[in-house]
Amino acid sequence: MHEFASARQPIEAMIKSDDLECLLKQAEAIHGHLCPMVSLGVKAGQYAMKFLDTGSTGMEEVVAVVECNNCFTDGIQVVTGCTFGNNALIFRDLGKTAVTVALRGNGRGVRLAVRPQYRDEMFARYPAAGPLFDKVVVQRNATPEEEHHFHHLWPAMAHKELDRPLEEALTIQEVSLKLPPFARIFPTVVCSQCGEGVMEPRVRLVKGQPTCLTCAGAEFGELTGQGIGCGRS
Ligand SMILES: [Zn+2]
Ligand SMILES: [Zn+2]
Repeated sequence: MHEFASARQPIEAMIKSDDLECLLKQAEAIHGHLCPMVSLGVKAGQYAMKFLDTGSTGMEEVVAVVECNNCFTDGIQVVTGCTFGNNALIFRDLGKTAVTVALRGNGRGVRLAVRPQYRDEMFARYPAAGPLFDKVVVQRNATPEEEHHFHHLWPAMAHKELDRPLEEALTIQEVSLKLPPFARIFPTVVCSQCGEGVMEPRVRLVKGQPTCLTCAGAEFGELTGQGIGCGRS
């Protein structure tokens, strides 16, 4: 019988051989652009996977707890294989560019956090980058020339930052983590108003009828660029 190799195999091989450039390329495929923070996520993820000497099949055997939802997190998702969709990615809304990667079996883990001085030190290495970042990303009022310059400089920085020593950018700490239980599979209930299927714990009773949060006009948890908040349709 033919054994189908997992499409993750090349990524596992890149982790083992310290091929950060190829891992960064993989991250670009989902992140959409290259930037210093996605680079750092790739480096942190690669370090953690190698440190724990583990692979990932997306079955929650290895779990990544991220403390931010920024570019860093996409590097983590690609390299660790812990994603939003396979429940091996846990988001703690702490506003820190940090991750803990841990093994479910024994809770052994490693936490990597970006040093507070890293950003200033990084911008000092590329004097044009700070003002450009401010205009293009923060103020959103850059000229086309400035945009063009930025979109060349930013990926170049992502590549260069890959080669710098990890300890310069991140603190590394071995930790023991108490992980939440495996994701539960809930029954699906059909909303009495819109007819769509809804995971049971998200159903409200309206006049005795099962109703989704949208039709019920109820608040729900919402993760946006501002972090976790309350949404309402
Ligand atoms: Zn980015
Ligand atoms: Zn509904």
